[in-house]
Amino acid sequence: MKIGGLQRVSLIDYPGKISATVFTQGCNFLCPYCHNPDLVDPARYGPPVPEDQVISFLNRRRGKLEAVTITGGEPTLQKNLIRFLETLKEIGYPTKVDTNGSKPDVLETLICKRLVDYLAMDIKGPLQRYAQIASTEVDTSKIKRSIDLITTSGIEHEFRTTVVRSQIGLKDLLSIAELIDKSSLYVLQPFIPTKTLNGSFLSESSYSPIEFSALRERLEKEITRVVIR
Ligand code: SF4
Repeated sequence: MKIGGLQRVSLIDYPGKISATVFTQGCNFLCPYCHNPDLVDPARYGPPVPEDQVISFLNRRRGKLEAVTITGGEPTLQKNLIRFLETLKEIGYPTKVDTNGSKPDVLETLICKRLVDYLAMDIKGPLQRYAQIASTEVDTSKIKRSIDLITTSGIEHEFRTTVVRSQIGLKDLLSIAELIDKSSLYVLQPFIPTKTLNGSFLSESSYSPIEFSALRERLEKEITRVVIR
């Protein structure tokens, strides 16, 4: 595993649990609004954190931490993700994996081997707009397959979209809603321009709280559980 960072305690990454968060280095998307450019742009990578240090820390914190979240970057690109999750399971941690959904085969293995307890998948936009929003060519049949795999996995999960005003409007959100099972949790993440992969996005904005409430109300006609986070 190429690990770019370890957050020793997080109260927000794993719903309802105190988790450690492992940040993997590398991503196959180039979303301009990405707030983790140091995990995506190789020129900005920091020194990697040795995997054995991470495992040793998690071993020591057994009984104090309640779970481990693996995020990125894109964790499913990591060659040793399966082995890493197997080790976390041996230690006894519930695990959450965040993904952009580009590697359904990896997700299928995680699900079949019961190595993951919570899956969070970004849906960048309507399938026909993926290349534009992720700033790279994307095989959207894989995105669709990941959504379907996660939906039918029986594993607790959420789908989520980062909402940049210039990129995503109500029409896009309604297209995304068509991809998601009515009973899934759908999270709208207001874009916050603090750190971005593409510097020009620092001047972009999201919607106001009132506008978000209106978006949520409309989406709740399509999906039962919509939250703004
Ligand atoms: S937002 Fe996620 S998928 Fe997009 S570039 Fe950043 S890490 Fe990759």
